[in-house]
Amino acid sequence: MAIGRVAKLTFKAAPGAVIVQIIGAFIDAILPIVTTFFAALTTTALAQAFAGDETAGARAISYVIITAVLGVVMTAWSSISQYLEKALGYRVEAAVSDRMYEHFLKLDFWRYDDKQTIDTYDRAQQFARFFPYVFSRLANVVSQFIALIAGLVALILVSWWLGLILLAAVIPGIIIQFKLSRAQTAHWNSNVETRRSRSMIEWDMLQPTHMAELRVYGLVRYLLDMRMKLRDKDEKKQIEFERQFILKRLGANTIEAAAEVVALLWTVTQIIGQALPVGQFIYVQQVVSRALGGATGFVRAINSVDEDLANLVDYQSFMELPETESVGNVLRDTPKRVSLHDVSFRYPESDVLVLDRINMDIQRGQHIAIVGENGAGKTTLVKLLTGLYQPNSGSIMIDGTALTDIDVRSWHKQLGVLSQSAMRYTFATARNNIYFGDVGQKFDQKRFDMAVDWSESRKFLEKLPKSYDNYLMPWMEDEDGNKGVELSGGQWQRLALARNFYRTSPIIILDEPTSAIDALAESRIFKHLFGAKDKTIITISHRLTTVKKADVIYVLSDGKLVEQGTHKELVEAKGEYFRIFESQL
Ligand code: ADP
Repeated sequence: MAIGRVAKLTFKAAPGAVIVQIIGAFIDAILPIVTTFFAALTTTALAQAFAGDETAGARAISYVIITAVLGVVMTAWSSISQYLEKALGYRVEAAVSDRMYEHFLKLDFWRYDDKQTIDTYDRAQQFARFFPYVFSRLANVVSQFIALIAGLVALILVSWWLGLILLAAVIPGIIIQFKLSRAQTAHWNSNVETRRSRSMIEWDMLQPTHMAELRVYGLVRYLLDMRMKLRDKDEKKQIEFERQFILKRLGANTIEAAAEVVALLWTVTQIIGQALPVGQFIYVQQVVSRALGGATGFVRAINSVDEDLANLVDYQSFMELPETESVGNVLRDTPKRVSLHDVSFRYPESDVLVLDRINMDIQRGQHIAIVGENGAGKTTLVKLLTGLYQPNSGSIMIDGTALTDIDVRSWHKQLGVLSQSAMRYTFATARNNIYFGDVGQKFDQKRFDMAVDWSESRKFLEKLPKSYDNYLMPWMEDEDGNKGVELSGGQWQRLALARNFYRTSPIIILDEPTSAIDALAESRIFKHLFGAKDKTIITISHRLTTVKKADVIYVLSDGKLVEQGTHKELVEAKGEYFRIFESQL
């Protein structure tokens, strides 16, 4: 049962939370009834005292004192439980979301392209975000249920058929609410996409850096309308459900009200016939209204919890996805040779062969260039080389061992990869943006100096108000109140290059990382890089000046390797290479 799973999940994270909630549920359900019971006894005793019973007065006073003590206990419990709920809720939430994030970051790489994984993740996230509330709502379900049952039992103690009337009265309401919840949950699950599109639009629309394009292209109104349509699709349906259930709910409420009237009339006749003491009227009236309240509360709580439980199932199936395992041999030495043998690849759930029987042989210290038109498969080749995706057939060998048999983390230690969409760590200082190239080791000033020099970042970084300690986003402010500074696209690329150089890895893969840097600067930057004789460098570039310096150039076209050789050889061949670079030649 889902409620049990939530309890188990919570119990693991914070056992105290579960215990507190269970005690709380009982206190909330039972104490009011006990209080009412004593109030009823007080009334009866007063009536008896009025009729001349001499001991009745003392009894009335002791009942009042007991009632007062119970009141104090209830108040004390409610303040303590408020604190406990907050403190434990924090622990539980942290545990659930930490586990989820960690898991997400360790999935097999292809899953980040997989729609089903992302759908499940979205819903799991929804669950994690609301988990503390889910838990207290679940506790609420339990405590309302106990209140309902306790009410029924309390009535049966007076007369079994009072209990029966009440039970019959609450059942229609519960059934109706279950039906509504089911419809809403089904709607919720079928609308993941709508909600995702909407939140992506909201995200894109509300990024200050996107404003310039959105305004100039006149997209603001258009996107707002798009978002509104998506929202309507989602929420109007929910409102429609509510509308459909108004009459049914009204019917159920009428039945409940009628049951209450019947129960009270019955009690009154019993008291007049002296079959019940006077105080029972208060007791029955209070208990009936509490039990009905319990039923309504139970139904409401179930309703609010249903959606969460649907997400819980997704949370669990998400957490059960296998993580990428790093098995295989740990690479200890700098690889001397990386070779591809008939490597073919298609993306999961796609029929297109993105790479078709590629062969390459890369020796340590070689400078390789990979060229080809957009969509030729260059970036995909890099993803395979880095071990993020595995070939469908063929193999990638590192010094004679298949990459799939090598511990991928130890392979990554040998690599410095820089892609066209390099990260911009806007939450970090300039220094950290570079240091993030190798956080496995302590900050190294010498490597840092080399990195800023090679990437030609020194000049613009030292001009910043706080130099390397400056933040790189206008809305990031340091303790002294210095605002961050926004960098240009080319400056960000230089910073990313600096991060890559700081890493000082023996194999460097550069996937068009210098598109926004002018050709002259790029040429100087690459001169440093190519000067390092023992580094293997694999560059993807559209710039002839960079490409022509490579020892071997591979030309990809539609996933096939169509040419390879030096610049001179390929120009003379007048084939694909020549065609691509004709204008630059
Ligand atoms: P290049 O880097 O040469 O421009 P890519 O390697 O990025 O080319 O893309 C090669 C082909 O693979 C393209 O047709 C592209 O649409 C497809 N592709 C790229 N990424 C994915 C993906 N995650 N899922 C499915 N197809 C993809």
